[in-house]
Amino acid sequence: MKTPFALRRRILQSQLGAANLTALLITRPASWYYLTGFSGEAGALVVSRSGAVIVTDGRFTAQARQETSGVRIIQQTGALAVSVGQLVRSTGLARVGFDASQITVSTLAALRRASGKRARWIAAAGHVEGLRGRKDAAELARMRKAAALADRVMGHALKILKPGVRELEIAAEIEFQMRQLGASGPAFETIVASGERSAYPHARATAKRLRKNELVVLDLGVILAHYCSDITRTVLVERASQKIRKWHQAVQAAQWAAIEAVKAGATCGAVDAAARGVLAAQDLDQHFVHSTGHGLGLEVHEDPRVAKGQKQILEPGNVVTIEPGVYVPGVGGIRIEDDVAVHEGSTEVLTRTPRDLIEI
Ligand code: ZN
Ligand code: ZN
Repeated sequence: MKTPFALRRRILQSQLGAANLTALLITRPASWYYLTGFSGEAGALVVSRSGAVIVTDGRFTAQARQETSGVRIIQQTGALAVSVGQLVRSTGLARVGFDASQITVSTLAALRRASGKRARWIAAAGHVEGLRGRKDAAELARMRKAAALADRVMGHALKILKPGVRELEIAAEIEFQMRQLGASGPAFETIVASGERSAYPHARATAKRLRKNELVVLDLGVILAHYCSDITRTVLVERASQKIRKWHQAVQAAQWAAIEAVKAGATCGAVDAAARGVLAAQDLDQHFVHSTGHGLGLEVHEDPRVAKGQKQILEPGNVVTIEPGVYVPGVGGIRIEDDVAVHEGSTEVLTRTPRDLIEI
């Protein structure tokens, strides 16, 4: 079967020269999966101009051999950093890039000791992340399926909400449904936040029971065939007050303005500003306490970030979430989140659950 992994490695290898690197150390599992197909969670990948080597421990060597092709697999002896350093020394790699946000000071010291005097370690982030941001057609097809599955799970979750049910029961049912429907698991810990707790953007589900006239924020996502989805809907148990209705309409309008602003060539900051501007017009922007969205793919939070002032330009193949919210301490929160793919000349909203305020 033809896989995209060798092609991705070739593209990365072609970038190493321009970056003045002889090799790149890749320590994020999602990035080594992207480049090799290896789905184990421990190890490291070294891509040099002439080849690729995975260093991993005995639990994963057989799996790595089975999942990859054209990649050398080395079983680590002792600490991972020591084995990687010895590999760099024995293969004579002179300038090795690493992601400073991923490596601890002590790991870097161990790499330096083991790799010897000749090797230079150079902070060089973003090479693989940049490639991962531009999804190809096969990746987009998987992301559509992951989004559709999240829609189905959301539809199921909305049916089981009623006064008296605990947040944790709802979260458990959501995650059970994910796997029943074929997901390998949740993309992140499912958020079910009701009443005043809905004002915490990333509240964990608790033993609290839903009560009448409360807001409930449901934020869920699945991993399907390695790719993530991420969707949020806000529900009102029973009937919403005029004020809540107005807030929900404002968030919905802010989300739509941001989705309309998503296009190839636009900056991420402009998309964020579109959402923030709508909320500011209603005097609600002070309650929008996080960024508008984030890239989505092999990881649930990846490049590009859709945040205030971000200069990064959206490109075809990017998939981002658009998730403005309003959070009023002591009252509750409202968030609406969808996944949006950027194409040449168009955008595509991958998640399809209706966005209107849901009253149950
Ligand atoms: Zn989310
Ligand atoms: Zn999100």
